[in-house]
Amino acid sequence: MAPSPPIASADALRRPGIHLVLSTGDRWPGAAHLLTTAERARADAFRHEQSRGEFVVGRALVRRLVAAATGLPAREIPIVQDCLRCGSDRHGKPRVGVVGAPQFSVSHSGGWVLVGVSQDGALGVDIETVSDRPSLLDLAPSVLSATESEV
Ligand SMILES: [Zn+2]
Repeated sequence: MAPSPPIASADALRRPGIHLVLSTGDRWPGAAHLLTTAERARADAFRHEQSRGEFVVGRALVRRLVAAATGLPAREIPIVQDCLRCGSDRHGKPRVGVVGAPQFSVSHSGGWVLVGVSQDGALGVDIETVSDRPSLLDLAPSVLSATESEV
């Protein structure tokens, strides 16, 4: 178990701009308690422990950040989905279901979780792990013939 990541003050979170928190996907004690029953069931359905941890930490961080910004209790912050194409509430970009609450974006990769929140409008964050392994194109000359590697 990891310690709970520090969160900016309410004043800082209400200022314009995007506020980022980078965390490992290691759950801290109580993180899962910030999720709804449905979210915990979704987390349990992940086959890989790393993916499960990333999802739990992402949702828990969003609730903590929105709680700090709005003063609402973290566990009571609704995170809803609505598909812009078909109107379904089962998929689509998740958002806080409270008028005036900050918008958020979560990205995770390789055991890391990046959460961005902003009062200014929609945002998107993206995190990618960088591998030290050579790319397929770097390997191409050693394993492919001259014609095969021409693309
Ligand atoms: Zn849809």
